[in-house]
Amino acid sequence: MTLAELLPSTGCSTEPVLEDGLWPDGTRLAGQDLVIGGLPATQLAARFGTPCQVLDERTVRARARAFRTALPDAEVVFAGKSLPCPEVYRWMAQEGLSLDVSSAGELALARAAGFPARRIVMHGNVKTAEDLKAALEYGVSRIVVDSFDEITQLGALATHGQEVMIRVTPGVDAHTHAKIATGVEDQKFGFSLASGAALEAILRVVEQPSLKLVGLHCHIGSQVKHVASYEEAVRRMVGLIASCGTRIGQLDLGGGFCAPYLRGDPDFDLAGFAHRVQGALNYECALHRVPPPRLLVEPGRSIVANAGVTLYRVCAVKESARTFVAVDGGMSDNPRPSLYGAKYAVRLVGRGGKPKPVTVVGRHCEAGDVLAEDVLLPRDVHAGDLLAVPATGAYHHALASNYNQVCRPPVIAVRDGVARPIVRRETEEDLLRRYV
Ligand SMILES: *Cc1c(COP(=O)(O)O)cnc(C)c1O
Repeated sequence: MTLAELLPSTGCSTEPVLEDGLWPDGTRLAGQDLVIGGLPATQLAARFGTPCQVLDERTVRARARAFRTALPDAEVVFAGKSLPCPEVYRWMAQEGLSLDVSSAGELALARAAGFPARRIVMHGNVKTAEDLKAALEYGVSRIVVDSFDEITQLGALATHGQEVMIRVTPGVDAHTHAKIATGVEDQKFGFSLASGAALEAILRVVEQPSLKLVGLHCHIGSQVKHVASYEEAVRRMVGLIASCGTRIGQLDLGGGFCAPYLRGDPDFDLAGFAHRVQGALNYECALHRVPPPRLLVEPGRSIVANAGVTLYRVCAVKESARTFVAVDGGMSDNPRPSLYGAKYAVRLVGRGGKPKPVTVVGRHCEAGDVLAEDVLLPRDVHAGDLLAVPATGAYHHALASNYNQVCRPPVIAVRDGVARPIVRRETEEDLLRRYV
C-alpha cells in the first residue's frame, strides 16, 4: 500500500496532533505553530535563520538521567560522536555520565568542556599516533584497543599502567542495517571472538608491562530494537571472560539503543534492557563461576536524537511525476538518507491545509540528495513555508559537511523559553580560513 492510499487511516502531518515520541519532551502545538523548549518554531527560524538545528536541553538531560536511574550500578558513557559539542558534553558531565571519544578532535572538545579525564574512554578502529598521544597526555582513563598493531603501538607509547579495554566482535547479529551492524563477523571493528583473535588480544595486552587490562568491550550495532541481542552478547562475552583466565573487572556493552524516527517506531525498552541484561550477566557469571564485572553502556542516539528538531525553509516547489519540495539544507546537514536510507517525518509549521504526498529534497548537486520521500504536506506547499524535521539530534551536526561550500547550520539550545546558540552558524569567513 502506498502512503496516499493509507491517507484516510493515518491522518496527515498537518493535522493538529504530534506524533508520539518523535519530538522533544514538552513539544506542543499552539495553533499551527510548534512550541519547542517553550519557544515557537516560527520565532526560532526568524531569529536564528534556517536551516537551523534546535536542541532541547531538558530532553537531553532527562534521557541521560533515565539511563543512570535504570542502571544505577553501571557506568553510563555518552557516545560523544553522536553530538560533538562542548556544551552538550558539559551537560553530560553534570548528569554524572562518562564520555567516549574516538579521535584527538573529539578529545579536544572534551577538554574544552573540562570533562574529567577519569571519566573519558577512547575508541576507534584506527587511532593515529596523534590520537593516542593526546589520550595519554590528557590521561583518559581507558583506551579501547581495536587491533594488534594498536596494542604494540600503545604499549610502546604508554609509560605506566594505562588502563585498556579490548573491543571484541561477538558475532551477534543485531538485525539492523548492514552499514551500522558492528557486532557481526567479517567487518573492520574489533577482535573476532569466534576466530580466537579476541583471546589472543587479551594475552598480548597482558604481556605489555605498560598496559593494564581492565575490561572487554563490544558494540553490536546501531538502532538495535531487541534486548535479546544484548542478552546474547552478554552470554558470549561472559563465556570469553571465563575462558581467558584473567580477571576482567568491566564489561562494556556499547550503545546502539534504538530511537524512533517515524510515527509508530518503537522506543527502546530501557527498563526491560536493564532488567534482562543485569539478569543475564548475573546468571552467566554464576554459571561460569566468575565474579560479575561492572557493566558499562554507551548510549548516543537514544539520548540526543529525539531532543533535536531541524528547521528548513522551502525554497522551491517543482511538479513532475511527483511533487518535489526543495529546502535550504540537505545532505550537507543530513547525509543519513543518502548514506543508509534513513527515513524522516516532516511537518509544515505555521499553517495547515489539505495534505498530499511530496518528496522533500535538498539543495545539493546530487540526485540522491533527498531528505524524505512520500511525506504529507499541505497541497499548496510553497516557497517560504517552514518545515520541521524531528529526531535530528544525533548524527546530524556530527555528520554535517560543507558540500557545495554551503555553511553548516547552528545548533540552538532551548530550555524553558530561552534560546542560545551552542554551535554558531558557519560563515564564508570560516570557509575561506582554510584555503591558501
Ligand atoms: C557509535 C558508538 C556508540 C553509540 O551508538 P548509538 O547508536 O548512538 O547509541 C557507542 N559505542 C561505540 C563504540 C560506538 O562506536
